[in-house]
Amino acid sequence: MVDIKWDELGFSYIKTPLRYLSYWKDGSWDDGIMTEDNQLHISEGSPAIHYGQQCFEGLKAYRTNDGTINLFRVEENAKRINQSGRRLMIPHMPEDKFIDAVKKVVAANHEYVPPYGSGGTLYLRPIIIGVGDSIGVAPAQEYIFTVFCMPVGPYFKGGMKPTNFVISDYDRAAPAGTGAVKVGGNYAASLLPGTEAKERLFSDCIYLDPATHTKIEEVGAANFFGITKDNRFITPISPSILPSITKYSLLYLAKERLGMEAIEGDCYLTELDQFSEAGACGTAAVISPIGGIQLEEDFHVFYSEIEVGPVTKRLYDELTGIQFGDIEAPKGWITKVEW
Ligand SMILES: *Cc1c(COP(=O)(O)O)cnc(C)c1O
Repeated sequence: MVDIKWDELGFSYIKTPLRYLSYWKDGSWDDGIMTEDNQLHISEGSPAIHYGQQCFEGLKAYRTNDGTINLFRVEENAKRINQSGRRLMIPHMPEDKFIDAVKKVVAANHEYVPPYGSGGTLYLRPIIIGVGDSIGVAPAQEYIFTVFCMPVGPYFKGGMKPTNFVISDYDRAAPAGTGAVKVGGNYAASLLPGTEAKERLFSDCIYLDPATHTKIEEVGAANFFGITKDNRFITPISPSILPSITKYSLLYLAKERLGMEAIEGDCYLTELDQFSEAGACGTAAVISPIGGIQLEEDFHVFYSEIEVGPVTKRLYDELTGIQFGDIEAPKGWITKVEW
């Protein structure tokens, strides 16, 4: 057994024994290797470092009650890394190669998947970076694809709790920019707004639609959803929102399992009163309930600043139950990892 205090895990880098590494050159990916080396050796001319030509994914492996290991909707991550790659002229990554790499990394580090019931998971980070000797503004001639992993603790220790957010004056993305793809540049641009929000003791900031600044778009690096007083699940629709796999899963579960109307639609700041609950969603926290939102001088509370709303709780329990194998999953959502 590995020497890790499972209940003390947070979200920080831990070097696990093995990672996957594959190289693209002259039009194709090589077969890839598993390596102990956690350092990347790249040219100083690499376009990833100068011009941000890189994209990434984030997903988790879950330990079930019978000791097996689940991946959650890994095909969706495989599709999305290619949507991101296409926007940044990064070569196509075959979906089966992506999934195989993720499985290999989980299998090779299976002892680092936290035990069932600890709330912890094995976080996987696939990345593709443009490398090689170049300096002009052009797509790289060579690429590295790597997948590494580390055990992480539950986002909320001691249970889900609502927190407060502030509407940002900054934009995270342009209307036809790169907001819908998972690229590092979006994150670099969000560091200052996020830090300023945290200095004001908010959890993070909320970004509005960049064209009109009238609608909620993203909550930090997570998607937004609201539950209306007439029990509908609404999540913003926009070409500059990152298509969260968690969000699409909640849309499905709200409709199919909770019998709600579940739609993507506009979430106008002037219509916040329609919501009885609100939350942020993404792989990291699954759901982070929103207590209140600061909009200039006004503070708008949804359900409660201290208690989690009942629909938010049911959605959270349903989705995490599926991920950890306690609740039957919709077809194709779970991939078992063998080792
Ligand atoms: C990754 C990400 C999300 C969440 O996506 P999931 O697939 O649910 O993890 C939301 N917003 C942004 C900006 C992201 O990068």
